[in-house]
Formats: sequence, structure tokens, C-alpha cells
Amino acid sequence: MSDGIRRPAAIFILFIGAALLWLAGLHSHDAEAAKNELDSTVSYAREHSASNDPRLKGGSTFERGGWVYVHLEGDPSTIGFQHGFLLANEIEDAFPAVQAAMLRSTKRDWPFFRQVAREMLWPKIDPEYQQELQGIAEGLNARTGSQLDVYDIVALNSFEEVPDYYVPWLNKREKVANAPNLKSPGNCSAFVATGSWTKDHQIVIAHNNWTSYMNGERWRIIFDIQPTNGYRILMDGFPGVIASDDDFAINSDGLMVTETTITQFEGWDPNGKPEFFRARKALQYANSIDAYTKIMLDGNNGGYANDWLLGDRKTGEIAQLELGLKAYKLWRTKDGVFAGSNWARDPRVLKEDTPEFNPNDMASSPNARRARWEQLLNENKGKIDVSLAQQMLADHVDSFEKKTEADDRTLCGHIDSTDRGVSVWGWEPFYPGGAVQGKATDSSMAKDMRLVARLGHPCGEDFLAAPFLAAHPEYAWEAPYLRDLKAGPWTEFHSGEIHAPAVPSK
Ligand SMILES: [Zn+2]
Repeated sequence: MSDGIRRPAAIFILFIGAALLWLAGLHSHDAEAAKNELDSTVSYAREHSASNDPRLKGGSTFERGGWVYVHLEGDPSTIGFQHGFLLANEIEDAFPAVQAAMLRSTKRDWPFFRQVAREMLWPKIDPEYQQELQGIAEGLNARTGSQLDVYDIVALNSFEEVPDYYVPWLNKREKVANAPNLKSPGNCSAFVATGSWTKDHQIVIAHNNWTSYMNGERWRIIFDIQPTNGYRILMDGFPGVIASDDDFAINSDGLMVTETTITQFEGWDPNGKPEFFRARKALQYANSIDAYTKIMLDGNNGGYANDWLLGDRKTGEIAQLELGLKAYKLWRTKDGVFAGSNWARDPRVLKEDTPEFNPNDMASSPNARRARWEQLLNENKGKIDVSLAQQMLADHVDSFEKKTEADDRTLCGHIDSTDRGVSVWGWEPFYPGGAVQGKATDSSMAKDMRLVARLGHPCGEDFLAAPFLAAHPEYAWEAPYLRDLKAGPWTEFHSGEIHAPAVPSK
């Protein structure tokens, strides 16, 4: 223990001792109220004591437009500690929601996920990210006394890859009787454009995140990470998770990154490295499309298989990395556009990694949105900029039925409004999910480490939990976690914003 921590810790222990003596002297009928008072006092004392931790120096957080912006800086352990401490409330709110969904869909228990985290994932994570994950658990504990340990945090970080990629692979391998019908997720609508396609011939990149509203309303962190080693990162993200994970990010050496997942992807390599770790490492250390691709391929485990849309503002070049497990393909251009809405297109990836996917079913969400992207991007060739990108993310044209009405086939998805659900992802009719937030930036904004983001449906429509749950009792299990998802304004963020000190006040 460093001197900086020892004194506050000693004062803290004395303080608790005195409080306990005081409690012991009370009559029993006062004990309940006194205990509550003591709990609150202990909690404040713990938080106040921890807030003197030197690792918090430089970290800060504030809210804007419904987003929680958090600035983290330092070595890996310090960045993790700041993350766990500053976002403790958000992590403690998100963890049970994510956990409930993981347990319900997989029919596995939490010790299973902890074991996967400890035995399969943890040993393959580079030491610096192990330190950061450990730091998150320590910071969280210091702030709230949380009992979550590093393996809980690793399991949380794997929530996009273990339940829907590893578990179905394992069930098949072990011939598990009555195994749940798990399907890889179909998350997001996105594009990246450059050259004659954009208004200023610079790169424009935009993304809306599709997920359950339960997770989406918690996917509201803007991370500004200034690591001791590697490039500075500005990204949106999820509490407690070290990667952006939905993903939308820029780094200070000019890389612009987003993705959409590959529908009906199958496969897993238990000897591979976790996707969340590779995605974060690539963001922190890649200075080019080639470097990014190399890191993502190194130890590819097949988890959370994505079509990565990349841009390098230094060269004006964009790329699409379709990262299957058995096959992958990289397309690149300095004059063109790549769109994503959860479909693979490389013949080898289609054949070997997504054997069930039908690219010709134009009624399905991925293909209907692909058709809409082609139409919309072609119509706007030469005019694309960030403000137009914001409108595109909010688009409500159903290309299959040729009408304007928000549903599962529109770029801004609203699955709760349709009785179709999305069968290719295992989303049931009226599933409370869809586009939960949007982000966009361009080369000149990225040079200043700036982006715009809107929480909630990019079209501005609110989702209200109470009337939804009343109309759809089949989703009652989400009631403890599902909240209103109200759309905020398009809001700009940039690296280095500091609006509030890290030390909490009572
Ligand atoms: Zn919408």
C-alpha cells in the first residue's frame, strides 16, 4: 500500500471502529435506523477514502445529451481503476441486466461464464489489458464495495461473444440435449464513404447500434482514453467494457473504425484470443488499415464476427474487413463507399462461415437494409457529409414493402413495432430492440478527435417501457431492467473535455 493510500485507509478504519462502538450502545428499537445510517455513513466513508487514491488523478466524468463522458488516462491499471470508480454506478446498473439476458438465453449459470472467463479467455489477454480489467474490478470495489471480481468483469466484457458464439459451438460439440436455439446477433447499420462520394472528398463514417433496448439504454458512455502507450482513443461504449463493442471509434493517428455483425455466423476457436481484447488493442495500436487488420487476425477466435468498416484520414483510404473465422476478405478504396447491415458478401465467408444465411431473401432485415443503403448512398453520391449521415441513420424506408414506416427492415430499426421479429437473429415478434443510438464523424472532425452522437433512436422517437410491457406480457422478464429509451439531441464530444472533478462530493 502506498503512503498516499495508507493514511486515508487508517482514518477510514478508525472511523468504522468508532461507528461500531456507537451502534453497540444503542437500544434495539433504534438499531434498524442506526444500521441504515451506519450503512450510508460507511458507504460515504469508503467512497471518500477511495477518492483520495492517487490513481484517480486525471480521470473525470460528466453528462451531456444523455451520454456519460469519461476521461481516463495513465498506465493500464490506472485507466482501469478510473473506469471502475468513475462508472461504478453505471456498471452496477448494467451488470445485472446483461447477466439476466445471458443466463436466460443460454440456460447456463453464472459460474459457467466465470469459468469460461478464467480458463479460456483470461490467459489469452495481453498483460496490459489484464491489468486494466483488474483495475476496473478494484475501482468498482473501492467506490461501492462491490463484490464483483475480475472474472465477473471479463465475463461482462465477453457478453457479445461467449453467449451467442461460444455456447452454441459448445452445445453442438457436446451434443447438449434441448440446447437453446442461440443465434449470432445482427447488430447495426453503418457506412464509410470517401473520395467523389462525399461532399468534401474526405472520409465520412456513421453507425447506429442495434441491440436490445435493455442493453441499448445503457450503451451511453463516451470514452476518452489517453493511455501511456499507444494512441489516444475516442469511442462510444458500455460500462465496464474495455472495447467500444458496438463499435464506433477514432484514434489519434487517424484511424476511423466501425462495424456491423455478420448474420448467422457459426464457429469458434477456443484457442483464439477474445474479440473484445483484439478490438481494443487494434484501436489503441493500429496506425493504418493494414495494422488494424493484422491485429484483428492475430488469434482470431471467431467471436462477435463483424464486417469492419475502416478509414484512414491520413490517406483518405477506406476499407471493409469481412472477418470470418475460416475465411476473411479485405476490400479497400480511395474512391468509394462500403455499407454494412449484417450481411456477408465474400463467397468464401458466405459458404464456410455463414452456411445458413440466404443473401437473396430480400424480406429479411439484413438484405432489405442492404438494398436501402445502396439506394440511399447512390442517390446522395457527392453530397454525403456528417449532417446527411445523421439523416441516413434515421431512415425509415422499408425497401421490401416500398413504404416509409419504421420496422425491422429500416436503417433505423424498431422491432417492437412489428409482429415479424427477426428470425435470423432469434428475435421474437415485437422484440424490444432496434437502433438504440447513432454516431458520425468525418476526417476533419477526427483530426480534432471530435464526433457527434445521439442517444436513443436516431430518428428521435422515444421508446416507453410501461406501455410496451403492458401490451407484451411475454417480455415481463425484462421488467426489472427495461426502462424508457428517450432520444436525446445530436451532441458533439471531443477528446480532453473536463467538466467535473473525479472526487465525488456528498
Ligand atoms: Zn427510427
